[in-house]
Amino acid sequence: EVVTRFAPSPTGFLHIGGARTALFNWLYARHNGGKYLLRIEDTDRARSTDAAIEAIFDGLNWLGLGGDEEPVFQFARSDRHAQVAHQMLDAGHAYRCYLTQEELAARREKAQAERRPFRIDSEWRDATPDQWPADQSYVVRMKSPREGETTIPDRVQGSITVQNSELDDFIILRSDGTPTYMLAVVVDDHDMGVTHVIRGDDHINNAFRQLVIVRAMDAIEGGWPDPVYAHIPLIHGADGAKLSKRHGALGVDAYRDEMGLLPEAVFNYLLRLGWGHGDEEIISRDQAVEWFDIANVNKGASRFDLKKLLNLNGHYIREADDARLAGLVAPRLAALEPGFDAATGTDLLTRAMPVLKVRAADLNELAASSVFLFAQRPLPVSEKAAALLTDDSRAILAKVVAALEAENGWTIEGLEATLKQMAEELGIGLGKIAQPLRASLTGQTTSPGIFDVLALLGKDESLARIRDQLA
Ligand code: GLU
Repeated sequence: EVVTRFAPSPTGFLHIGGARTALFNWLYARHNGGKYLLRIEDTDRARSTDAAIEAIFDGLNWLGLGGDEEPVFQFARSDRHAQVAHQMLDAGHAYRCYLTQEELAARREKAQAERRPFRIDSEWRDATPDQWPADQSYVVRMKSPREGETTIPDRVQGSITVQNSELDDFIILRSDGTPTYMLAVVVDDHDMGVTHVIRGDDHINNAFRQLVIVRAMDAIEGGWPDPVYAHIPLIHGADGAKLSKRHGALGVDAYRDEMGLLPEAVFNYLLRLGWGHGDEEIISRDQAVEWFDIANVNKGASRFDLKKLLNLNGHYIREADDARLAGLVAPRLAALEPGFDAATGTDLLTRAMPVLKVRAADLNELAASSVFLFAQRPLPVSEKAAALLTDDSRAILAKVVAALEAENGWTIEGLEATLKQMAEELGIGLGKIAQPLRASLTGQTTSPGIFDVLALLGKDESLARIRDQLA
């Protein structure tokens, strides 16, 4: 069975790179009928926060990328990590190292002065218990292999080989007995049954050290196979530079709250970022599960493209259910227009969605474009719209009022017929009527089609708004 995991460190928000890593893990598990697990790597006690943990779960759930089982919290498993360290210590795969910070610093300095690369080369590596000093603290280091080489057949990067002489005797237990991150990851992956480690390529170097632990434990007790590794490239900005806030690299919560994006748009965008299936741009969740393969993940860094993200969002807004959109727009609209009351206004907002959503790229635009429906009379009129309300056009509006008062059905078709006939009788283009009419009904120069606006506002409100401009 395939088991993948997403293992964020809760030291900040869930950023776009992390969300994409989660997505690829989720897809790989789904595609193979496997399991996708979450692990919160909260061993950095000083920097891990509950708020970050909440933000990560919140962001993942919003994208539909919650784990298949209860999440694992790494720090709570410290005893188990230490237990594995002691197993390796007892079996001679790890050793007590009594080198002090001062000794290490001095050696590092010396190596630097002599311009040679520094390697720990601890004399404690092969010490016997009778040589251990009493009452002196020690760290536990892995006895990394020094001969030969290690090759990782990475599913994205291809085969990567490192000379074992480059591997250092890294620490697995600190002098206070607490496990290090390097150890915790390996033990947790094993205990969670993780078969595939899919993560950012900034972890490639760690993989070689982690394999040292995996292989030591496999030698000791068996049942610790090498995981399959897939290190995915980082995301860069459109200019090729490392992604930063300047490029729109925000937390996932900002994509939802500030930018007003739909989760399916962000899902689709993240999917296309570094992975492709032919020329397909719009890919549904089900299609993604069907098509996803690690082998199609690009080897090079992907570039973040805000315009593409907004285009996709526009597409998904047009596809979205109207009642759902109204529910999402309601709080944004309430913040813009005090005349909007969700309890009484959501129905009209829902009915307006078909004509509003065709022109919006995000929920903020959608909210802004629906303000006119709920604005209180007399309407605030923009400068541009006010310029359309000349004496001449007011005279036309007076005739419009008369014609609309006599209108019975108040259907889009009926209203269109009435106003077209009027334009013909007056010998003017329909625009000469529609422009001042729009200004009086919406206070703006742009809006959905004028007949849609009339139909949505209804007869009484429409007439009252036009009369306000005639007074
Ligand atoms: N906690 C690590 C991070 O957030 C991920 C470690 C891993 O995936 O092995 O970068």
